[in-house]
Amino acid sequence: MKGFAMLRIGEVGWIELDKPVADPLGAIVRPLALSPCTSDTHTVWAGSIGERHNMVLGHESVGEVVEVGSLVKDFKPGDRVIVPAITPDWGAIESQEGYSMHSGGMLAGWKFSNHKNGVFAEFYHVNEADANLALLPDGVKPEDAVMLSDMVVTGFHGVELAGVSFGDIVAVIGIGPVGLMSVAGCALHGAARIIAVGSRPHCIEVARQYGATDIVNYKNGDIVTQILDATAGRGVDKVIIAGGDVDTFAEAVKIMRPGGTIGNVNYLGEGDCICIPRVEWGVGMGHKHIKGGLTPGGRMKMEKLARLLQYGKLDTSLLLTHRFVGLEGVEPALMLMKDKPADLIKPVVTIQY
Ligand code: NDP
Ligand code: ZN
Repeated sequence: MKGFAMLRIGEVGWIELDKPVADPLGAIVRPLALSPCTSDTHTVWAGSIGERHNMVLGHESVGEVVEVGSLVKDFKPGDRVIVPAITPDWGAIESQEGYSMHSGGMLAGWKFSNHKNGVFAEFYHVNEADANLALLPDGVKPEDAVMLSDMVVTGFHGVELAGVSFGDIVAVIGIGPVGLMSVAGCALHGAARIIAVGSRPHCIEVARQYGATDIVNYKNGDIVTQILDATAGRGVDKVIIAGGDVDTFAEAVKIMRPGGTIGNVNYLGEGDCICIPRVEWGVGMGHKHIKGGLTPGGRMKMEKLARLLQYGKLDTSLLLTHRFVGLEGVEPALMLMKDKPADLIKPVVTIQY
């Protein structure tokens, strides 16, 4: 079979590889919808997870089960499934502690396109199928559901980490697809005012559709000044970071009132340290909490999030700006993700059989 792979840092291409086989708890799936992630571009072009040779890329997929292992109880060939980006080992100590995304070591629940071949292939293997696959509800399109694998769950995890609650004023820094899902998640969690930080006009328009009440363009000047001005100097209750860099933490601390929480889901690619401004952090006593996390995975999370699409509480189709048909489409889709043209939010690739 063929797969689209990272050949080495900075280089991608199509490779031939053996079709995977199901272990007793696992399943083999063929893709129905795929999408590249900003993390795939970090993996290839920033070398964010180190050198990898001929590793199939991709971790966002909806697919059809073609084979299951002898111990799989709940899935069978023909089932249409949402495949989470994170597929933990559910028996691991870290999972028992509530941090399944770190099962087997820090970030090790992220297996696809990291510790094993990813989903940009004719077939791929999913470990612990009963715990890691989620049934695609009837009436939900694969291309809409593929946004659940990573974009929805990650954007919403920012909301969970920040602990957004009714009436909060929240700043969402970064409104690419992840930050847009944070905006939508804040709205679902009852935030009163959602201040979205970005610059590209299409992302701004969609941020408003998902519930942003205010837009701050970081290219128009310091966001600290802009957000403090917009809140009469008070600052915001919670901050979600889904874009920016190591310096963004300093801004987040400065715009947040005591007692608030920063929820970071952004990848930090450069620098040795994150700066926490001493005075605005209350000289160490400000009760300004900082959290950051890899997105959760697993079946229950995906099946619950899928209900939001099934019952019309969330419309992920607003994220889908570029469409390709056929597995070959993952190559131009990944290049779009690398180049981030102004009108891009997310590309999606659908495959018909
Ligand atoms: P995008 O690149 O599409 O979006 C980034 C956003 O940040 C854009 O809105 C951009 O603005 C904005 N931005 C860029 N620089 C700044 C700045 N200096 N200050 C404020 N805003 C800024 O990324 P994605 O939405 O695809 O992904 C977001 C991050 O989440 C990535 O780092 C990705 O790797 C990470 N990620 C993390 C996961 C996890 O498990 N925690 C899972 C998946 C992704 P504009 O383009 O409008 O100028
Ligand atoms: Zn990702």
